[in-house]
Amino acid sequence: MARVISLHYTLTDSQGVTIDSSRGKQPFSFMEGAGQIIPGLEKKLAGAAKGDKKKISVPAAEAYGGREESKVIKVPRAQLPDDVKPGDRLSGGQEHGAPVFVVTAVTDAEATLDGNHFLAGKDLTFDVEILAVREATEEEISHGHAHGEHGHSH
Ligand code: ZN
Repeated sequence: MARVISLHYTLTDSQGVTIDSSRGKQPFSFMEGAGQIIPGLEKKLAGAAKGDKKKISVPAAEAYGGREESKVIKVPRAQLPDDVKPGDRLSGGQEHGAPVFVVTAVTDAEATLDGNHFLAGKDLTFDVEILAVREATEEEISHGHAHGEHGHSH
């Protein structure tokens, strides 16, 4: 049976800088075996039980992978919005799951876009506290993901 695990987490990089945290927000829930979280974290959470507190280190290769320079592209400035500037995030398409590019440089002639995940190449540490573990519902299993505490939400 698949299990749904609810937890609080704080994510830090190798310098100890906090990248993201669920503290003070809704706990994060995921269904085991559904590919909802990065492989290196899921592996370390196998067998986790309510009340467990773990500090889990995940190397980049088991997190968001290494940076790929082939995902850094240059496009003519004219193809982009007039007000484009470094730090902007641009979607590579309309469909759900389309790649997202971060603008890293803009000149009169062209812009440099980086399609790497912003955590690519980073070794990550997750401080987690397991709040609840339950069996997944049939609906969750058929959808392939965990639903929120108050029923269905996407
Ligand atoms: Zn669903």
